[in-house]
Amino acid sequence: MASRSEILIVGGGVAGLSLATRLGKSMGKPGKARITLIDKSFSHVWKPMLHCFASGTLSNENDKVNFISQASGHHFEFWPGEVASIDRENREVVLSPLLEADGTVVLESRRMKYDTIVIAIGSTANDFGTPGVKEHCMSIDNLVDANAFNEKFRMELLRAFANNSELDIAIVGGGATGVQLAAELHKALEIVGPYNLHAFGKAPPKLHVTLLQSGERILPAFPESVSAAAQQELEHIGVTVRTNARVAAADEHGFTLKDGSYVPAKLRVWAAGVRAPEVTTAYGGLTLNRTGQILVNPNLSSIDDERIFALGDCSFIQNDPLPATAQVARQQARHLAHYLPAWIERGQKVPGCIFHNKGAIVALGKYNGWAALPGGTVWGGGISHGFWARMAHLMLYRQHQIELFGYYRGLMSFYSDWVETFVRPSVRLD
Ligand SMILES: Cc1cc2nc3c(=O)[nH]c(=O)nc-3n(C[C@H](O)[C@H](O)[C@H](O)COP(=O)(O)OP(=O)(O)OC[C@H]3O[C@@H](n4cnc5c(N)ncnc54)[C@H](O)[C@@H]3O)c2cc1C
Repeated sequence: MASRSEILIVGGGVAGLSLATRLGKSMGKPGKARITLIDKSFSHVWKPMLHCFASGTLSNENDKVNFISQASGHHFEFWPGEVASIDRENREVVLSPLLEADGTVVLESRRMKYDTIVIAIGSTANDFGTPGVKEHCMSIDNLVDANAFNEKFRMELLRAFANNSELDIAIVGGGATGVQLAAELHKALEIVGPYNLHAFGKAPPKLHVTLLQSGERILPAFPESVSAAAQQELEHIGVTVRTNARVAAADEHGFTLKDGSYVPAKLRVWAAGVRAPEVTTAYGGLTLNRTGQILVNPNLSSIDDERIFALGDCSFIQNDPLPATAQVARQQARHLAHYLPAWIERGQKVPGCIFHNKGAIVALGKYNGWAALPGGTVWGGGISHGFWARMAHLMLYRQHQIELFGYYRGLMSFYSDWVETFVRPSVRLD
């Protein structure tokens, strides 16, 4: 293999940015490889926090990591763009033209060479072809979606406020995304309350969130006790939880369920299912599963091509699939960061990645939280309203920041976020 190997990492999310940062240190800095990160966006966000951006309880500016800045400080390169296809024969990726918002071409379609390519382009919700969802529902799959939802949320609140009406929101999907979003919207409205009273002399409008879950219980990946406690907490704050509620179609006014009932909603969010971005079908004929995820061996190399690796939500380990979670994405990124250098430099085989399940945490805004540990132990809830579980959920994000920035900058960003709480409103108002 060439002395300066070309490594392309496609997608700078939870897995991709962590991998680029680590490989930058081990291979980019000593000049053993050129590492190039490609992402369709200019900045990274910790995806498990997207529901906070959508409801406005987190500020965009503080909580995103600019790729150019991260690359310049960590010995890798960054190019904005969407990888549209992979030419495996010539070992090149093809990037779509980069366009301005009005469609003007900034960069023409480009080709980039690779020796090794790592695909980490994440996932989107899966509407399973349900009629009307594409046209009439919003999703929160990325920061653009989350910001678009927040804009709509604030405008609809204002409209309801002026008309003395209520705001109805329906969320499809009772997994962590839907459940956490439902709670966070209520939290946002509670924070907005005092601002409204002081600025307009009037309380904010009533929010009515309905959570639609097709299965028998919400949070199916958690033990039943957590599902029951979370449902109780949601109902306590005013969310209507409907289980066994299968959506048949969406329109501009709400959802029709399979049982014939209708759920009216001014804002409709689709937060159910997981599928890889559709573009994987153009990735050099790699074998995919039914939801477009790239089939990989236990060592995360594609089953079709040993120079192509895939990890995180867009990948599917044949015969031993793992859930689409940040925990899996991070462990897989660490695994490749550890073993890729030896493979690239000496052709030493990358061993299988063994997933260590550390449990799962769900946080319902400021209201409650639970952690389910491997082996069935659950903690959270109780009189402290799951304070430690909520803190642990937040610490996952802080840990990720430290991984990207190093201890000193990571802790400084923690501190500056805390200082900001005394200076700025803790909810987005414009
Ligand atoms: C609201 C919400 C809450 C969640 N909560 C939790 C939680 O509490 N715990 C947990 O473990 N998991 C949670 N998850 C799931 C977790 O966020 C994902 O499993 C994790 O982000 C997957 O990491 P990834 O690196 O595979 O993809 P991502 O982090 O999604 O990153 C994908 C990257 O690829 C880029 N990209 C996409 N397509 C292209 C393309 N064609 N070309 C170039 N770049 C591209 C994107 O811009 C993005 O930067 C949550 C998800 C959501 C949406």
